[in-house]
Amino acid sequence: MAQAYEDMEKTRKRLELLEILAELFRNTPVNVIERIIYLTQGKIKPDFFGIELGMSDKLVMKVLEKSTAMSKDKIMEEYKRTGDLGEVTRISLSNKVQTTLVRDKLTVERVYQTFEDIASTSGHGSVEIKIAHLAGLLSDCTPIEGKYIIRTLTGILRLGIADYTVLDALSVTYTNDKSNRKYLERAYNISSDLGRVARLVANKGLKGLEEINIVVGNPIRPMLAERLSSSQEIIKKVDGKMSLEYKLDGERLQIHVNNKQTEIFSRKLENITNHYPDVCAIMNEIEVKNMILEAEAVAIDKQTKSYLPFQELMHRRRKYNIEEAVKNYPISVNLFDIIYLDDQDLTDSSYEERRKILMKISKKNRRLEIIKNNITQDANEIDDFLEQAIEEGCEGLVIKDLQGNYRAGAREYLWIKLKREYKSEMADTLDLVIIGAMYGKGKRVNKYGALLLAVYDKKQDMFRSFCKVGTGFSDEQLHKIHQVLQKDIIKNKHVRVDSKMDMDVWFEPNIVLEISGSEITISPIHTANKDEVRKNFGLALRFPIFTGRIRDDKKPQDVTSTEEIMSEYGRQLKKISK
Ligand code: ATP
Repeated sequence: MAQAYEDMEKTRKRLELLEILAELFRNTPVNVIERIIYLTQGKIKPDFFGIELGMSDKLVMKVLEKSTAMSKDKIMEEYKRTGDLGEVTRISLSNKVQTTLVRDKLTVERVYQTFEDIASTSGHGSVEIKIAHLAGLLSDCTPIEGKYIIRTLTGILRLGIADYTVLDALSVTYTNDKSNRKYLERAYNISSDLGRVARLVANKGLKGLEEINIVVGNPIRPMLAERLSSSQEIIKKVDGKMSLEYKLDGERLQIHVNNKQTEIFSRKLENITNHYPDVCAIMNEIEVKNMILEAEAVAIDKQTKSYLPFQELMHRRRKYNIEEAVKNYPISVNLFDIIYLDDQDLTDSSYEERRKILMKISKKNRRLEIIKNNITQDANEIDDFLEQAIEEGCEGLVIKDLQGNYRAGAREYLWIKLKREYKSEMADTLDLVIIGAMYGKGKRVNKYGALLLAVYDKKQDMFRSFCKVGTGFSDEQLHKIHQVLQKDIIKNKHVRVDSKMDMDVWFEPNIVLEISGSEITISPIHTANKDEVRKNFGLALRFPIFTGRIRDDKKPQDVTSTEEIMSEYGRQLKKISK
């Protein structure tokens, strides 16, 4: 496994990465495939379990000092030189004098078990126990194994393998056909658990995936909206009646209730139950066996009850005194979908039916609201409702096909968002991921002067450069962004980044910014949608400006896709030709 990691780190090509991963899976006994999947992602369980491996650098250095021949000063010196404790571990283990005659060979099972033990140890005396666990592993591992064990434990494994690459590799390995990825993807969308998908397909082939059903308590990958820029376009796209709804600007909550126990997941599927004790209290009062609801939580003014900007919700992201934050920053809970009720999966029901059920639920507690809607087929009514929504402080509308089912993980035209900005040249702000930077000069010394941003090419699983942004930042934001990017710095351009630019610094794609711009143009330097419009040219954003919003609710693969860029470009062209 460590050798596969080494090979992955050396490659610059996604197809090779896929091949190495598939080869690793082929050589993996099926009873450990689940663990291998989590480990290659630097985890021991899916994110929604909320397990932190996070061992501090200080603790690791202590163990290295104890269990290898390297002195404290030398460890520090190597750490400063390489900036990577995994590398320091490799060096110190290479210098180690073998004290025991027989080394126990490391197995995946043992490493995984030790990681579990480390993660579950807390409280008094836990530091010593963790040190002992890690020292045990280090005494039996090779230098290369040590390197990756430490990188995993300190949270910097970063093999650059995206969910889609794993699904591709699994489908090649266990079904001999990459096009079967869609079945695996469906299973992943409703379980959010790659390890489980892998275990089932490895043991039982595609048939095994039928065992994956919605489970209350396991988050589902959320359904998303496509964008269009006018009521006319929407009318043309949707056949039949639509539900027009306010697009509220808050935090999306996926609420799972089981026997009066509530768990809440964010858009990124992290467990955020602790941020919303008030929502849990409401849910626990509702008489149902189990259910999964979706809602937008919006901060509201204490006196007037009017909506406040989403930033106000940030006060709830704290560990202590959450009760006080709940009192000072009240919210309204605005239901907009129901996915599951009393052991029944509702994803195949039409939205019309789901909304009827949701109405009944919302009546069970006066502190629950259902998002305002208007049913129509008429373009003028859409325009009027949009104005009304904006007047009331909303971002715009989400327009839903009343006959549409719930499509987990999909961004399609069953939901369409319509925003005010659509009336300007660009239909919408874009969410772009930071992949590189230039150092700042003058007033921006010690910060970054410009950031290189990318869109996501879903098919190839690559981040392609789309624009460089240097405007729209306050001094504080520049400082903050500089700080948060430090942990993402990598030596060379990331394997899944495609860019022809020469940058001072490259990053692991991680931080997502919301960007507005004037229009999309063809570009000889940027690589988004290369060759799609003109040979050797890509597409780029003109006059990009940071809107002030860091989208920490989005993962890098959730940023604007090359497909969305292409349809936006097409829309602009149509406007010009009119
Ligand atoms: P954006 O960048 O516009 O906030 P997004 O990429 O987070 O959008 P979209 O699919 O574009 O997600 O838009 C849907 C989001 O809008 C949902 O994730 C949800 O948080 C929010 N939302 C607000 N009101 C509604 C509503 N009535 N129905 C569905 N989603 C809503």
